[in-house]
Amino acid sequence: MDIFSLDKEYIANTYGRLNVAFKSGKGSVLTDFDGKEYIDLGSGIAVTSFGIADDVWVDAVVKQLNSVQHVSNYYYTEPQAKLAQLLCEKTGMKKVFFGNSGAEANECAIKVARKYGNSVMGIEAPVIITLKNSFHGRTVTTLTATGQDVFHKDFGPFTPGFVYAEANNKDELVKLTEENTCCAVMMELIQGEGGVMALDPDYVKFVRELCDKNNMLLLIDEVQTGNGRTGELYAFMNYGIQPDVFTTAKGLGGGLPIGACVLGEKVQDVLKAGDHGSTFGGNPVCAAGAVSIIERLDNELLESVKSKSEYIISQLQNADGVESISGLGLMLGIKTKKDAKVILKECLEKGVLVLTAKDKVRLVPALNIPMQELKKAVEILKEVIAE
Ligand SMILES: *Cc1c(COP(=O)(O)O)cnc(C)c1O
Repeated sequence: MDIFSLDKEYIANTYGRLNVAFKSGKGSVLTDFDGKEYIDLGSGIAVTSFGIADDVWVDAVVKQLNSVQHVSNYYYTEPQAKLAQLLCEKTGMKKVFFGNSGAEANECAIKVARKYGNSVMGIEAPVIITLKNSFHGRTVTTLTATGQDVFHKDFGPFTPGFVYAEANNKDELVKLTEENTCCAVMMELIQGEGGVMALDPDYVKFVRELCDKNNMLLLIDEVQTGNGRTGELYAFMNYGIQPDVFTTAKGLGGGLPIGACVLGEKVQDVLKAGDHGSTFGGNPVCAAGAVSIIERLDNELLESVKSKSEYIISQLQNADGVESISGLGLMLGIKTKKDAKVILKECLEKGVLVLTAKDKVRLVPALNIPMQELKKAVEILKEVIAE
């Protein structure tokens, strides 16, 4: 079977795929159909938190798969209840809605903010402020929330009710709250697709205070930054703020599709029965995998994320061809003299998988990548960047 030609013939042309198909893997090593091995510094875009076919995760998933794979959300399931409890107890939040992706988690957050605006604040057409250079998803509404024109082209008309502020610009944010009937600010704390750009801590504190002052909600998109990625369980914990709502997905399921919209005290009862739903949301198999992920993100693991981050930074920050490094924990962006896309292709040739974000090389390895593999991959990356 020729995977490449079948794919080219029958799969919609939405991805600029690289010329490799993976057959198997273990931990942070993937193997293609020719038997060539690759060290994975991308984890399927920050998804496989504990790598490929991790034993603990596989056990949790298979155990649930062999008992109940799906019931409708008209019934209770144990993994969903347990996961919601874990998420709330570890974050100081109150309730969770489960969907299947980051975009869906954000759709839920947007619905909560709109209903809060309409029914609590008494605003007729509530407006949500998002940031320029942000990424919130590909559905029409999360696409509208996304503050990057490249994603908007040809997909209008867009959902009304969004305005955009420049990141780290306090004055512009204040102006937008004065000119619009705003119910919420929604933002990533590290803009992932936007080039791994961390917001200024001072600005984030200011946004929290501004929201409180105006009775607006602060929605934090932790789809990429969440679940241990930044060295804290959620990125907002690095900033010393508490969101009213946070969303997460990607690394939560460890490789199975699950998204969560996590609600704080202020909004825990905004949604009522019938207001929102999802057929697959919180699927017991995905939720069982997610429970096993969240349970393992203890202090020791988070400390190892920080020390691996320091290792990567120490190796690359003064290396030939590196201009700067941004990001936090195991979510790093490397600005290079050489074109990032060329680096990605040359690394692939040499058996290392990296990602790009805008003009940067993006590294989001598994949180438990063994030091030996990390060292080998960073060595190769260094060579490629320097050439
Ligand atoms: C990936 C991502 C999304 C979209 O998630 P999907 O699961 O692809 O829908 C939303 N927000 C952020 C910050 C992301 O990185």
